[in-house]
Order: sequence, then structure tokens, then C-alpha cells
Amino acid sequence: MDRYLELINPMLTVRELRAEVTRVERSTADSVTLTLRPTRQWRGFQAGQYVELSVDIDGVRRSRCFSPCCSQHRADGRIELTVKAHPEGLVSQWLYANAAPGLVVGLSQAGGNFHLPTPRPERILLISGGSGITPVLSMLRTLVDEGYRGELVFLHYSFTEADVAHLAELRDLAATHGNVRLVLAYTRQTEGGDLHGLFEETHLADSAPWYAEAQTYLCGPPGLMATIRAHYAAKGIEDALHTEEFTLPVFTPADGDATGQVRFGDTVVENSGATLLEQAEAAGLTPEYGCRMGICFTCTKVKTSGCTRNVRTGDLNRDPDTEVQLCISAPVGDVAIDI
Ligand SMILES: Cc1cc2nc3c(=O)[nH]c(=O)nc-3n(C[C@H](O)[C@H](O)[C@H](O)COP(=O)(O)OP(=O)(O)OC[C@H]3O[C@@H](n4cnc5c(N)ncnc54)[C@H](O)[C@@H]3O)c2cc1C
Repeated sequence: MDRYLELINPMLTVRELRAEVTRVERSTADSVTLTLRPTRQWRGFQAGQYVELSVDIDGVRRSRCFSPCCSQHRADGRIELTVKAHPEGLVSQWLYANAAPGLVVGLSQAGGNFHLPTPRPERILLISGGSGITPVLSMLRTLVDEGYRGELVFLHYSFTEADVAHLAELRDLAATHGNVRLVLAYTRQTEGGDLHGLFEETHLADSAPWYAEAQTYLCGPPGLMATIRAHYAAKGIEDALHTEEFTLPVFTPADGDATGQVRFGDTVVENSGATLLEQAEAAGLTPEYGCRMGICFTCTKVKTSGCTRNVRTGDLNRDPDTEVQLCISAPVGDVAIDI
């Protein structure tokens, strides 16, 4: 039914959730902010969660995850996504170049466990780096909309001031809410801002001296996240740290895993130990993928034989004829995939 209806109006759907781009803004030189009006199937989201957005590029449907950066209480029910244009990224570059009001995209319902608890904690530290600002900005905007009275620090890392998305609004929120403190850390700019250089433990003490008694929500590049995780673990307060990742942490194969051969249909390669998706791409194959971190199942294929390791959990899958997600499965010895 939706295939026929879309010929009349792509926003008239019976089952499929879609959204129309209603506004396009460029808050930094390499990002684009899209406002989306979802169809009536949209069930809303909690600040911090993500959606999958799909677009057709050269006749192929591509899906990627994005975290809404608006308040979950936005009155008009629209959602706002800020997409960083990755230098060689397919979908982000396409959106940066082509998204315009009137474009209709595919949308999923919101998902993910990265969100604030109810009731809200008394003290909250939001930490982000680069494009990881989106889910925590959504938390900040949501808390402000709720009239949150607790202590709230927003610590954001960027290369320079020019790279901070939504900077004017962040400054405005901090200036108009006595309980909100904005701390800007620049890693490639020595003037302006509040902190300079890569993350150091003193940054936490300087920005939110009470952080050990607070709940911290963190989203940023793998290096920043690993350092902050290690710091919280060393202090024994890892339970107070809640994280969201946009990419998988760097994966090192276990001893003895990178042996034998991987067979992708008729293509056979020496097992390098990397994930099946990376090995397939290195062999010149182009399997479909979405999130590249085990969320969306777009890259699921059947493993006909051999053993794979889930790079997120370390679990082994020795069963033949089972589905595996190429992006988070690394072959252990000889493996055959039906591609
Ligand atoms: C939960 C979640 C939330 C997210 N929220 C946001 C957000 O709010 N804003 C945002 O900007 N981003 C967000 N992302 C990231 C986003 O989903 C995309 O990963 C990002 O936009 C890049 O997609 P792309 O299509 O432009 O790049 P892709 O084309 O998918 O490329 C990404 C990387 O994949 C690798 N790659 C791709 N093709 C190949 C190949 N043939 N061979 C080898 N390597 C290859 C490269 O390392 C490349 O840099 C989020 C991700 C997740 C998982």
C-alpha cells in the first residue's frame, strides 16, 4: 500500500515511518542540522536515544544512526539531527550536499539505552567530544525544558571554537540558567574557551568538582571515551558513567584468532583478524551496512561454517548456518560466509 501511496504523497503512509525535512541549517563548516517532521507513526524519543535515517543514494537504500539533538519535549513534535560530514562518508556527505526542505527520508522508531533516568539525578555532568555533542545536547535541552533545578555542567571538547555546533544556543542557555555551566575545551586552540588540550583529570575537578557524586553522560570519539572510562574505573565510580558510542572502539584480535582463510562466496582471503565487514571491504566486496557497530543488523549474513568472535562481547559463535553481523564479527580461523 505504501508503495502506491508514495506516488501521490510520500508522507502518506499506512505502515512505514518516514519524515520530511522541513529546515536545513549549517551551524559549523562541516555539519548540517536537519529538522524533520515525522509521519503519524512516530512514537517520540527519550533524550540520548538514536534513530535510523534512510536515504536512496544512486538507487541504493542507505541507513545510518543519528541521535536527535533537540529536546524530547519539543512542542511541534519535530526532531532535529546534526550530521557531521565525514571526509569520506557516504551518507553524511550526501546529506550535507543534498538535504533540502521537502526531502522525504526513511526513519526508525527511537532506540538505545542511553537516556536520563526518572526521577532526574540531582547533579548531572554531560561530556561530549566533536559530533558526539548531539545526544547530550538533547539531554541539556530536555532538562532545561523540564525546569531542572539540579546542578548541570556541559563539558564539550572540540578542535576549535569554530567547530562547536549550536554554540550560540549553548552560551545562551548557560547565561539564562544559573544552574547550568558551559565548559568549552579546545584541543587545537590555545586562546578563548575554558580549557585547552586533550582530556586531563583536572578538567573534571575544574568543571564539576562534585562529579564523583553525580551521574555522568558521555559521548565522543573513542580516545576521549577510553580515557574517561579508565579514570572513572580507577576511582571506582564507573557505575555513575553512562556512555554512547558512534563507532566501535579499536579492536585487537585475540592470540591465535587471525589464522586460516575467510571465504566470502567465491572470494577467498587470508584471515587478517579484522572484522568480517572490514575483510570483505579490503577484498573489494561491498556488502551493505548501516551502523558498523552491531545496532542495525543491515550487514547480517549467513555463516555457513567456522567460528566467529563478537568483538563487543568476546563471545564465540561456532554454529554452522547461523546469521552473523559482519560489522561486529571477527573470524577465528577458517570461516565461510554466504555473500
Ligand atoms: C548510536 C549512533 C548515533 C549516532 N549519532 C550521530 C549523530 O547524531 N551525528 C553524526 O554526525 N553521526 C552520528 N552517528 C554516526 C553516523 O551513524 C555515521 O556513522 C556517520 O555519519 C558516517 O556515515 P557515512 O555514511 O557518512 O560514512 P560511511 O560511508 O559509512 O563511512 C564511515 C567509515 O566507514 C569506513 N568505511 C566505509 N566504507 C568503507 C570501505 N569500502 N572500506 C573500508 N572502510 C570503509 C571508513 O572508516 C569510514 O570512515 C551515530 C552513530 C551511532 C552508532
